[in-house]
Amino acid sequence: VSPQQIRNFCIIAHIDHGKSTLADRLLQLTNTVSNRDMKEQFLDSMDLERERGITIKLQTARMSYTAADGKQYILNLIDTPGHVDFSYEVSRSLVACEGAILVVDASQGVEAQTLANVYLASESGLEIIPVLNKVDLPSAEPLRVKQEIEQMIGLDTSDCLEISAKTGKNVEKVLEYIVEYIPPPKDRSDAPLRALIFDSYYDSYRGVIVYFRIFDGILETGRKIRFMNSQKDFETVEIGVLAPHQVSVARLGPGEVGYLVAGIKTVQDARVGDTITLASQPAHSPLAGYKEAKPMVFCGLYPADADQFEDLREALERLKLNDSALSYEPESSSAMGFGFRCGFLGLLHMEIVCERLSREYGLDLVTTSPSVGYYVHLEKKSPLLIQNPCELPEPHLIDHIEEPYVRLEIITPSEFVGSLMELTQSRRGIFQDMKYITATRTSLIYELPLAELVTNFFDLVKSRSRGYASMEYHWSGYRVGDLVKLEVAVNGEKVDALCNIVHRDKAYSIARALTERLKELIPRQQFRIPVQGMIGSRVIASEHIPALRKDVLAKCYGGDISRKKKLLKKQAEGKKKMKAIGKVDVPQEAFRAMLSLK
Ligand code: GDP
Ligand code: MG
Repeated sequence: VSPQQIRNFCIIAHIDHGKSTLADRLLQLTNTVSNRDMKEQFLDSMDLERERGITIKLQTARMSYTAADGKQYILNLIDTPGHVDFSYEVSRSLVACEGAILVVDASQGVEAQTLANVYLASESGLEIIPVLNKVDLPSAEPLRVKQEIEQMIGLDTSDCLEISAKTGKNVEKVLEYIVEYIPPPKDRSDAPLRALIFDSYYDSYRGVIVYFRIFDGILETGRKIRFMNSQKDFETVEIGVLAPHQVSVARLGPGEVGYLVAGIKTVQDARVGDTITLASQPAHSPLAGYKEAKPMVFCGLYPADADQFEDLREALERLKLNDSALSYEPESSSAMGFGFRCGFLGLLHMEIVCERLSREYGLDLVTTSPSVGYYVHLEKKSPLLIQNPCELPEPHLIDHIEEPYVRLEIITPSEFVGSLMELTQSRRGIFQDMKYITATRTSLIYELPLAELVTNFFDLVKSRSRGYASMEYHWSGYRVGDLVKLEVAVNGEKVDALCNIVHRDKAYSIARALTERLKELIPRQQFRIPVQGMIGSRVIASEHIPALRKDVLAKCYGGDISRKKKLLKKQAEGKKKMKAIGKVDVPQEAFRAMLSLK
């Protein structure tokens, strides 16, 4: 295919503004997917994605379209996830495109992730085509939203399309706009091969499947390829296009998007961001790769049943094959036994990994509260990176501690500004800027410790704004903080899995709230259980769980054996979900108590 006939584009949007629905319509209009095979959100192939209505893993589809000019075009759509946690997946797909369709919900307007995606797209030099979606809704306000796009993004909206991805209204015009406004890839078929890997996944039958976009040169099946950064060579056994199912072809040229199979055993050998060239005629230098995704949020993952430790290790290994942003290393805890400290891009990423582990691998897991990574500077020693709060050294050894901050932008109806500022300040936010976007909407910008964000912040923003505010953050750097280790003792025994690093000024109030919460979560037992919050050996908050009065079996007056058995069975099932701290059984919710403090 001549590059003149190719258009590579992605769709970017704030979550729920209709990106997946628009992609569905485009696939149908171009007969890429027959109406019979069509199911909603076709590209969201993971069950989890369908259920939650979000796109997690990016997906690609090649469409064939005969435009109004009578010529046939190949349109490669690369779908992107809309959630902040996955913005690194967004930037990966952007590099493979020349243009982006910016979908904005005409009943909502420009939201925090709309802006964040636009920044990424314009950094990558993409042509951005704004489109107003959901104009079928009675609450749609196309005029107001166009104004927002002009004012906040600076895009001309004079010929902005007004569509409904749901009813299909004006969607065929989107295809015409793509052909007309998105530039074709450059024709560099004579240059040595350079193709960028933008995704890869592990298939148990064929090995690693690599998704790539060719920038220079030509790739044919059977050629020996080289990954320029890892310096590894492989023989291609199959190349093809994503239509959207894999269809093999003999050769692909500049601008084309495809997949290859080459007997690659691990995803590490075919890393996202690496450049593919030919071993016989290598390019001089690789393409600019992507920034590697850094895990920002950590938590301990433990099998509820100690026998499942090896299964958990295997499951993590497999998930990692398809999710390079996931990190994990073994750790042990006196409370939880053997497990793993895992690193994630953000909270949603964490939730999704945990859910996949239990759903796809049938694992029953106990997880600890999420935490962040700290740089701990010791006297006359190089700094330590601490990813597990209980590893924080003794205070007298520490010179100072640095913690990660994010730059946070909240876009909200103006009536909630006061309440959101109060929330942000209570979470140690440092005010940066406030902008009046329109008469009724305001943007707030803060620097905020990431640790304050990972404990329920987003839910509170939503509830304080009745669901109307949106937020977006990106990592902004480390700052020194006055931080202490807050430990919890249950029945006189410190529980490592309940340890947290908190700001000194907040240690007392958090310790009080945490012990109160634990008192609610830990069931009564035969004896009285003290629950204490401590800094070092100093108790700063204390509660106790009163003893259980009666034996559960006391109720069944000896006679009824089957009832007795039932009760004991129920107890045993409950116990499986518990972790024993000395003589005390602690339910798994207790290890996440930090997320539900009042
Ligand atoms: P995404 O998160 O951007 O991928 O958004 P989805 O495509 O999943 O759409 C979010 C919700 O909006 C779904 O319930 C869709 O059915 C709905 N939706 C999408 N486009 C339209 C539209 O044009 N009109 C209406 N009324 N609803 C739409
Ligand atoms: Mg979607």
